[in-house]
Amino acid sequence: SPIETDRIQSLLPHWVETSRQRSSQGKVAAYIPELSKSPIDALGVYILGADGTSASAGDYNLSFTMQSISKVFTLILALMDNGEEGVFSKVGMEPTGDNFNSMLKLELVQPGIPFNPLINAGAIVISSLISGHSNDEKSSRILNFFRELSGNDTLTYNFDVYRSESATAHLNRSMAYFLLDNGVLQGEVEDVLDVYFRHCAINVTCADLARMALVLAHDGTDPLTGAALIPRRYVQIAKTFMITCGMYNASGEFAIQVGLPAKSGVSGGILTMVPGRYGIGVVGPALNRKGNSIAGVHLLETLSREFDWSLF
Ligand code: GLN
Repeated sequence: SPIETDRIQSLLPHWVETSRQRSSQGKVAAYIPELSKSPIDALGVYILGADGTSASAGDYNLSFTMQSISKVFTLILALMDNGEEGVFSKVGMEPTGDNFNSMLKLELVQPGIPFNPLINAGAIVISSLISGHSNDEKSSRILNFFRELSGNDTLTYNFDVYRSESATAHLNRSMAYFLLDNGVLQGEVEDVLDVYFRHCAINVTCADLARMALVLAHDGTDPLTGAALIPRRYVQIAKTFMITCGMYNASGEFAIQVGLPAKSGVSGGILTMVPGRYGIGVVGPALNRKGNSIAGVHLLETLSREFDWSLF
């Protein structure tokens, strides 16, 4: 309600400035060279209610690439294209406890499928499951879906980040070839990787993430337009993965300290939500050792504690 977002708004700028100080203890991602240019002490947040009222503070106008946050929505599109059986014959449902780019467990489960769709190996498999006759068609289906969910038809790629990642993604490439050998990947490996790098490089602001999260917070229906965009079951699956795997190998700690479904990306974004109430977008490019925004996580811990948002 407007009263609640007003109350959040009155407190938010102070909390952002307190959390922002954590940034000096983190590092911006540098393995994608272009991301090393991100502003290290930026922190922004946008909280959007079902009635369209919002609260925002700090660098909420910063644009940044979605990176791993996009994996939640490509998973949903793959489910809409292939159904549950089609998807879960190719990726598992279990957290790994390893880094997001680890290859360690790819040999463990027969027939060599990735543990879950939110680690890189799993998300690359998901990219291969998006329907379309060419990688261009697959990529434009993904971009259009993201535009629809964010209510922003100007969403587009950051080509500098896309090129930078594609040129340096030796680890993701090696995983993709490993998955090809396991018989898990269909199609041309480079085409699949191109679809993956593109959706990771879609530029957003905190407001875009908040609107996409708001749709998940309302079981797949955009409360601002009434449009049913995602079947409820697929939202349920996505939110469950966000709880168990969304913050990489810090998902358990985040579930205890914040208690909300969330997904982070190495550009410092975090998408989260208070189910039935708010969609939330956060950005803070300085990352902790697990690859999550150090100031962003601190801010969400504060908010969850103050407003008793934990689902548990
Ligand atoms: N594009 C990034 C990668 O594949 C996404 C990873 C992330 O955000 N954790 O490394």
